[in-house]
Amino acid sequence: MLWRIGFVGVLAALGAFAAFGTVVPHAPAVPEMRDLVEPLALRVQPAQAPAAYMREEQFRRGDTLSAFFARLGIEESHAARLARVRALRLLKPGVHVSAEVSAGGAPNSLSFLVDRDTLVQIELAGESFRVSEQTAPVETRQVLKTGVIRSSLFAAADAAGIPDAIAMQLSDVFAGDIDFHRDLRQGDRFAVVYEQYALQGRALRAGRLLAAEFTNQGRTFRAVHYGSSYYAADGTNLRKAFLRSPLEFSRVTSGFGLRRHPIARQWLAHRGIDYGAAPGTRVRSVGDGMVEFAGVKGNYGKVVIVRHHGQYSTLYAHLSRFASGVQRGTRVAQNDTIGFVGQTGWATGPHLHYEFRVGGEARNPFSVAMPSGHPVPPPQMPAFRAHAEVLAARLDLLGASSLAMLE
Ligand SMILES: [Zn+2]
Repeated sequence: MLWRIGFVGVLAALGAFAAFGTVVPHAPAVPEMRDLVEPLALRVQPAQAPAAYMREEQFRRGDTLSAFFARLGIEESHAARLARVRALRLLKPGVHVSAEVSAGGAPNSLSFLVDRDTLVQIELAGESFRVSEQTAPVETRQVLKTGVIRSSLFAAADAAGIPDAIAMQLSDVFAGDIDFHRDLRQGDRFAVVYEQYALQGRALRAGRLLAAEFTNQGRTFRAVHYGSSYYAADGTNLRKAFLRSPLEFSRVTSGFGLRRHPIARQWLAHRGIDYGAAPGTRVRSVGDGMVEFAGVKGNYGKVVIVRHHGQYSTLYAHLSRFASGVQRGTRVAQNDTIGFVGQTGWATGPHLHYEFRVGGEARNPFSVAMPSGHPVPPPQMPAFRAHAEVLAARLDLLGASSLAMLE
């Protein structure tokens, strides 16, 4: 956001500068605007031309250095010399570069971040460039945001300015309680508290999700990060023995979330749940276990059956193919890929047919939600409570004010 403001400022500076050349770029003017713009341009004095301006641009995938330098306003002869600076090989797509460029298009200085916190600076020194590296003063701050589901979790995250990494962590944390492919409804809402790394006030990247609240179909779940796990307010671990959804959750697959598959919701009729999904979507084991069967079986087509502890097993059908190494006897952990969505066997379109079985009988998995992670150990409960209270207060604040306003 901040860099955009900087960019607009630079454009204004460029506009003022261009006014002395032969070409004054004119927007197709609304009549009353033209009257205002022309006298103003005439009043600009040459003495006000900036000697140099700061510019910021993102190095994009597929960018060549020369195209990138042109966007920064670096003149061609300078660009050719600058392109020979070895440190520029550290430039990765997505990285923001700040540059001070003279009115004549000379790059006075460039700086950008590599790895987590190394700031590379390239400065014009006579006819050559001087390169230096230093540890950037990266700060960590906490960000509080809320969102309301209208079409998908990612659309809600986008609307609230929440990065993908946080939306993914949010869906992971509640993956044992909410099937993000089937359970989301319009009006579901969430609040997140997360870490953000920033350099000179500008957000660099998101860190960990610290606390979250998700209200799904009227049920509210809360999670607090503590140690290396997420816990409910009472200290129970949010990690469940089984994930709610056998499909990976991503920006690509999330679009299917609010779309009703025609034969979904009828698990009683055919003893399973169907997930409409794009061919090739990753299918994961919902729990730890061992592959009992991986092969072709009549109407199921290519199918994997995983045996879990106790009486539980799960079945994944109509796969296009199996994940490598998946065969009878293979040990799988929760969230491991076992195959990919297809339409083998009796399937009218690409989808995953999923069965949750207890003692060999298909059951509705929504009645089973056993915690599998350890709760907060009793001696640590006072410390956990103190930690959780602070974050809960932030979530309360978000719940009471922002969410009420959004409705
Ligand atoms: Zn089915």
